[in-house]
Amino acid sequence: MNFDVEYYRRDFPALQRTLYGRPLTYFDNTATSQTPKCVVDAIESAYYNSKANVHRGVHTMSQEMTALQEAARERVRGFINAESTEEIIFTRGTTEGINLVAACMGDSFKDGDEVIISVMEHHSNIVPWQLLQRRKDIKLRVIPMDECGVLNMDAYRGLFNEHTAMVSVTHVSNVLGTVNPVKEIVAEAHRHGVPVLIDGAQAISHRKVDVRDIDCDFYAFSAHKMYGPTGVGVLYGRKSWLEKMPPYQGGGEMIAHVSFDHTTYADLPFKFEAGTPDFVCIAAMHKAIDYMESIGIKRIEEHEQELLKYATERMAAEFPQIRIYGNAPVKDAIISFMLGDAHPYDVGLLLDKQGIAVRTGHHCAQPLLESLGLEGVARASFALYNTREEVDRFIAALHRIEPMLL
Ligand code: PMP
Repeated sequence: MNFDVEYYRRDFPALQRTLYGRPLTYFDNTATSQTPKCVVDAIESAYYNSKANVHRGVHTMSQEMTALQEAARERVRGFINAESTEEIIFTRGTTEGINLVAACMGDSFKDGDEVIISVMEHHSNIVPWQLLQRRKDIKLRVIPMDECGVLNMDAYRGLFNEHTAMVSVTHVSNVLGTVNPVKEIVAEAHRHGVPVLIDGAQAISHRKVDVRDIDCDFYAFSAHKMYGPTGVGVLYGRKSWLEKMPPYQGGGEMIAHVSFDHTTYADLPFKFEAGTPDFVCIAAMHKAIDYMESIGIKRIEEHEQELLKYATERMAAEFPQIRIYGNAPVKDAIISFMLGDAHPYDVGLLLDKQGIAVRTGHHCAQPLLESLGLEGVARASFALYNTREEVDRFIAALHRIEPMLL
C-alpha cells in the first residue's frame, strides 16, 4: 500500500521532539492525537485576524468569524453524513455531548425506566446516567461481553422490556479496541421504539462514520482525538428528537426572546449552544477534517490496521508473558496488555524513559477493568503517523524492560 507515512509525519511538529535523548514514539493516541500544523495555523490565523464573537455583530469581523464557524458546521455535517446542519451541535467534547443527552432526554423518562449501556463503556457514558438517577428512579442495564471482548448480542436482545427508554453504547472500546456492531444495535433498539446514543470518541478518526447509515439518534465525538484542537466536539442529534428535547443550559444565543416572565428558545441547533462557543477551535476542527479526508479515512484505517497486526503478532510471538486484552475480530488499533504481573505503571514509566509514550491505568473504564479482574493495564494505540520502525522500537524496549520487571 502506498502510504507515505514519513511525508505525513512532517505535518506534526510534536513528532520531531525527543525524550531522554531518544526520538519520541507517541503511542497514546487513544487519549489524544497530535495536531498537524495546518490546524494550529488555523487557530493562529483566527486569533490574529478574525477573533470576534459569532452571531452577535453586524460588523465585518463578527460576520467573518460566524461564517467560519458555520462553514465548520456544514463540514461536520458532510463528514458524518447528517441530513442537516440543524442536527450538528457544537460541544466541549464527547463527555459534554453524552451529558447533554442524558440530561435532556432524561427529562422525559419516567421512574422505573431503564437505560441499556455496555460493560465496556467509558466513565463518560456511565456517570451522566447515574447523575440522572438523582432526579429519576431509573435503572442501568448492562450488556455483557465474551472473553475476546465481543458484546453478547443475545444478552442485549434479552435486556429490552416495556421500561427500556434508551440505549447508549460506545462505537469502539477505548480499552479493548472492539468495534461494536452499532448498526445491529440500533436496528434492535428501533424495533422496540427505543432511541440510541453512540459514543463515537474512539471511532471517528479511525473509520468512516455515517450517521444515516448507522441510523443512530445521537452520535458524540471530540475534536482532540481526530487531529483537531482541544476543547471542542460535536453532538449529532436526529432533528425530531432535538425538537422535542428541552435545552441543556440557559444563556446567550440559545433564546428567541427573553422576558422576566417567559423565555422562548432559538431554533436548532442554537437551542443547545448557550453562551459563546469556542469558535476559534471550531474553525480549526474544520481543518482537521480537511486534513484527514485529504489523506483518506479508509487509507488511514488500513495503515493503522497493518500496525495493529504487526505489533500484535510480534508481542504474542516474542513475549510468552504478555497478555493482550481485547481480541475481537473487528478491532481498532488499540493494544491493552499486561507484561506478566508487572505493574502497568512500572511498564509505562520504563517505556517513557526510552522515549515511548503509552497509557497506563484504568483508562476511565473501571467497571470493565474490574470485570477482567484487573486494576489497570498498559495501552499502546496507533494513529496515521505511526510507523513499523516505532513498533520495532517499542518491541525492543519491551525486551529491555522485561528482565527488570519479571
Ligand atoms: N468515550 C470514550 C470511548 C473515550 O475513549 C473517551 C476519551 N478517552 C471519552 C468518551 C471522553 O472523551 P472526552 O474526554 O474528549 O470528552
